[in-house]
Amino acid sequence: MSASIDAAHVAKAFEETFGAAPQGVWAAPGRVNLIGEHTDYNEGFVLPFAIDRAAAVAIRLRDDNIAQLRSSYGAEGTVSVDLDTLSHDTMTGWTAYPLGVVWVMRQMGITIGGFDLYLHSTVPSGAGLSSSAAIECAVATAFNELESAGLSPNELVLVGQRAENEVVGAPTGILDQSASLLSTDGHAVFLDCRTQESTLVPLDLAAAGLLILVVDTKVSHAHATGGYAARRASCELGAEVLGVAALRDVVAADLPEAAGLLDDETYRRVRHIVTENQRVLDTIVVLDDAGPAAIGALLTASHVSMRDDFEISCPELDLAVDTALAHGALGARMTGGGFGGSAIALIPASVKATVRASVVQAFADASFTAPDIFAVSPAPGARRVR
Ligand code: ADP
Ligand code: MG
Repeated sequence: MSASIDAAHVAKAFEETFGAAPQGVWAAPGRVNLIGEHTDYNEGFVLPFAIDRAAAVAIRLRDDNIAQLRSSYGAEGTVSVDLDTLSHDTMTGWTAYPLGVVWVMRQMGITIGGFDLYLHSTVPSGAGLSSSAAIECAVATAFNELESAGLSPNELVLVGQRAENEVVGAPTGILDQSASLLSTDGHAVFLDCRTQESTLVPLDLAAAGLLILVVDTKVSHAHATGGYAARRASCELGAEVLGVAALRDVVAADLPEAAGLLDDETYRRVRHIVTENQRVLDTIVVLDDAGPAAIGALLTASHVSMRDDFEISCPELDLAVDTALAHGALGARMTGGGFGGSAIALIPASVKATVRASVVQAFADASFTAPDIFAVSPAPGARRVR
C-alpha cells in the first residue's frame, strides 16, 4: 500500500467501477495527535497534525436519488442505497461514514441527490490514526463544493463530528476532523476545543534531524463501545461534582481540593485531563522556545498519565513506548483514543533502524502480533486533488 494518494489511479478505479469519469477527487488526511488526549470533549486543548496518508473519494452526481458506494478496501463490492430511505438502519458498516455525512448535510438543508462514490484510503483502519474522520472530511469537502454549500472548515468539522456521533455512534470530540480539515503542510494545529479557534504551529522535524515513528500495534480499538464512552462519562461526572461547565475550567491548583470531593477513580480521570491540558500549553511554549527536540519529556509524561490515571493504554502500547525510549527516542506516547491503535515515538533520524528493530524484537519476545512501523510527516489538510 503506497502512502501517498494517486488521484489519477482513484479516478481510473471509479471509471472502471461506474463506467464514466468522476466529476472530481477529494482527499482528506488521517492524523497523529502530538499531545492532548481526551481533552477535546472536555473543551480543552489539542495539538494534532495531518499525516501523509489520506482517504480519497471520487464522486459523480446522478440524476436519481440512488447512492452507490464502493471502497477499494475489503470484499464488500458496491453498496446501493436509496437516499429517500436513508435512516440509521440503512447506514451500516463502512458506508455509515460517507452516508452519515450526507445525512447530516441533508438535515442541515443542503440538497444532495444521488451519486456514485469510490473510496481509496491509505490510512490504516482502526489504528488510531483516524481513518474514519479522513473519510468523513473527504466526503464533506466534496459535497460542500459539488453542492456549493458554502460551509466553512469549522462547520465541516462539526458535520463530520455529527456523523461520527449520531450515525456511527462513537461519542468522539472534534480532534480528528479538525486535524483533517485545518492542517497545512509542515504544521501542527493548536486547537482550543471550546471556541474552535485554531493556530498553525510550525513543526519542522526534518530540520531538527528528527522524525516521528508510528508503531501500529494492530490491536484494533472500537470507539463506539465501552471504554471511550466510560471515560467520557467519568469526565462529565467530575465536572458536575466540581461545579464547572467542563474540565477545561479546572487547573492544577484546584486538584488538592478536587481530591477530597471525588472518588479515587474519577479523581484520577480528572487529573489526567487537567495535567494533559497543561502539557499541551507547555508543548506550545517549548516548541517555540527550544524546538521539537525539547518536547520529548512532555510526550512521555502524557503517556504515563494515560497509562496510570486515565487507564486507556494496553500492554502493546506500553511496550512500544518503553522500547522506543530505551533505544534512543526523545519521547513516546500512545496517540488517539486508546485501548489499542498506535504509539508515536519522537526520535533522532539516526536511530530509526535501531528503534524499529528493537520494537519488532520486543513484540516477538512478548508473543504479540508483529507491529507495523512507519514514519509520518506533517501534511496538508482536506482538499480537491483532481
Ligand atoms: P480509526 O478512525 O482510528 O481508524 P475507527 O474505528 O474510528 O478507527 O474507524 C475505522 C472504520 O472506518 C472501519 O471499521 C471502517 O468502517 C471505516 N474505514 C476505514 N478505512 C476504510 C476503507 N479504506 N474503506 C472502507 N471503510 C473504511
Ligand atoms: Mg475514528
